[in-house]
Amino acid sequence: MTHKSLLWRFTLFSIMVAVFSLTNIRVQGSNPAFEQNESRFSTSSDDTLRMNRISFTPRSDGLGYVIRFHQSTRVDSFSLIQPASDLIQLEFFHSNIDTLGIQFPTYNEDVQEVRLYKLENSYGVDIYLGQQLQVISNAYTDMQSKDILVALTYSSTRKVEVFTQQFLARNWYLSLNPDNALDVLAPTMPSQVNLDQEYEQVKGKLRFDTVIIDPGHGGDDPGNIGYRNIEEKDVVLSISKKLGSYIEEYLPDVKVIYTRETDRYVDLEERGSIANRAEGDLFISIHADGWTSSSVYGSSVFFLGLHRSDAAFEVMKRENSVFTTHSQELFNLTEEDLLIYELAHSGYIATSERIAYMIEDQFRTRANRKSRGVKQAGFVVLYQASMPAVLIETGFLSNPAEQRFLTSDYGQSIIASAIFRAIRDYKIEYEKNQN
Ligand SMILES: [Zn+2]
Repeated sequence: MTHKSLLWRFTLFSIMVAVFSLTNIRVQGSNPAFEQNESRFSTSSDDTLRMNRISFTPRSDGLGYVIRFHQSTRVDSFSLIQPASDLIQLEFFHSNIDTLGIQFPTYNEDVQEVRLYKLENSYGVDIYLGQQLQVISNAYTDMQSKDILVALTYSSTRKVEVFTQQFLARNWYLSLNPDNALDVLAPTMPSQVNLDQEYEQVKGKLRFDTVIIDPGHGGDDPGNIGYRNIEEKDVVLSISKKLGSYIEEYLPDVKVIYTRETDRYVDLEERGSIANRAEGDLFISIHADGWTSSSVYGSSVFFLGLHRSDAAFEVMKRENSVFTTHSQELFNLTEEDLLIYELAHSGYIATSERIAYMIEDQFRTRANRKSRGVKQAGFVVLYQASMPAVLIETGFLSNPAEQRFLTSDYGQSIIASAIFRAIRDYKIEYEKNQN
């Protein structure tokens, strides 16, 4: 790799930051007997992890390579991201890591360089791969030793593209401890001015500051028609506005963007574009259910995924149908589309699931609603938003009691404040994890 391409790469990565880690597994501490024994003969502290060697070998199954980090002790935890086809980034968390005398692998055209960065409580690792190598990476602890293994599995260019899309490269410089400088090779430090600029950009991205509220349906598309001809589009618009006003009042640093604020039709693709343009941190689509039987009631929270039950598939068909009636082209979300989406957004899907459970918990415990649970389904509107996204079926308009609740000011306030509390709690959790 040329010096010039490294600089270019660094500049490119400087403007990006990692938010996700695919693997963040806590592993058990090492065998205490071994540590005690070791400390008797060693002057170094018990807890020092020695990274002795990094090696690189073809996999015995012929499906790729394994990179092994030979270590004296198990790391406390680690994470792996792959922000580009040719870059893998790991972080090893351990109070004290000793890399003195570490042996690097013999580089070849597939593994071109490994760099270590000493951070405050961890080590950052960059592994540069050859551009011709199309692999998906995964890290795990070796069962037989204390080593960390990074498996590289051959894959198609398309799949690698989809996989890497979910990660933003980490710029280790932002967390470097300047006193330690670097243990190992690294390009020249950038100027303080650049660091400050980068830090500002990073800070902005790490705040939870934009929520997209998507009131379902609208205009020509009434959504479900409930008991006494109540239309879903009106009910969900007023719940959405209540939710928005709570956020504006109680979380003043969070911006609220609506996909619609009036009774108008916005197609599902446009809803996603609005969300993506606003760089939302969370997309919440608000709906109300309807069913042929008036005895069915309760609320459900969905996040995007392959539909796992027929019931979820039914809801999915109802909510997706508006797209096909209003759009020239038929947008059929196939299983394969969903799978590709899941691969690309797996970081978001985990987050979406977490938020979905927080909302469901609020509905059940605080709003006293009958919960029909958290489910996965393939909603086009969730597919379009590149951020954590959930769809809430607040209740059944076909059920007389629930229809009265959902159309009353009281009921709408209860529903909106339950969703609000979940968003607030999630924001607190999210920002705590960033620090
Ligand atoms: Zn709906």
